[in-house]
Amino acid sequence: MASYIDIAVNLLGSALEPDIASIIQAAANQGVSPLIVIGSDLSESAAALAVCQQYPNKLYCTAGVHPHHASGWNVNSNALQAELCQAPEVVAIGECGLDYNRDFSPRPIQRQAFIAQLELAVELQIPVLMHERDAHEDFIAILREYRPQLTGALLHCFTGTRAQMEAYIALDLHLGITGWVCDERRGQELALLVPFIPQERLLIETDSPYLLPRSMRPKPKSSKNKPEYLPYIAKYIADLRGENADEFAAHCYKNSLAFFNLSPDND
Ligand SMILES: [Zn+2]
Repeated sequence: MASYIDIAVNLLGSALEPDIASIIQAAANQGVSPLIVIGSDLSESAAALAVCQQYPNKLYCTAGVHPHHASGWNVNSNALQAELCQAPEVVAIGECGLDYNRDFSPRPIQRQAFIAQLELAVELQIPVLMHERDAHEDFIAILREYRPQLTGALLHCFTGTRAQMEAYIALDLHLGITGWVCDERRGQELALLVPFIPQERLLIETDSPYLLPRSMRPKPKSSKNKPEYLPYIAKYIADLRGENADEFAAHCYKNSLAFFNLSPDND
């Protein structure tokens, strides 16, 4: 069986939270282990770290402030985030970035929180897991300044245009692809782009419980996406790229281990 790492799971503060143990097990049964739990603010990141410590080698997490929560960024945030990053289970800073689609936090504050987190990632030499929606110009302008000093930079749930993809690859980013690509309506452009992402830059993720792949048949009873569906997304992307599914999965797995500095889960 192929091995997979789901590099973006919203395990806490979401519909997945009541069933953590069974979600981890069901994913592992499909070869999906470990899971990377993404933090959307610092208190959620701290809670994610505590859950990771209950499931050693099965869960890792990020520590960060999502642009939606940038308004909560304050003078103490940096020190708290740095402290969280000392734990071996915390494998990246994130999610951080810019979201001008929802504008839940004012844009200048989003930029400020993003810059502060990039500076910390440089200082600690830890990778960043980033989010960008409808903010490409500002996002890349900020990132360009920090990219040379960052150890690793991943844009998760990439759904942009061809020009944006090329700009991100030129900036040496990894791109995370979700089941968005399986959507016969809004995923069409992404489906055309996915074959052009260099193999060593591509990571796969569910972003569960969001973005249930729309093409799954039979349709799952619940609209809740789960890490156990990652092999379905991987096969779908492999087909788009004209690659063997197992070989494609092996490349993604290797990329994920390398990006997050993880060892394989051999259980
Ligand atoms: Zn995101």
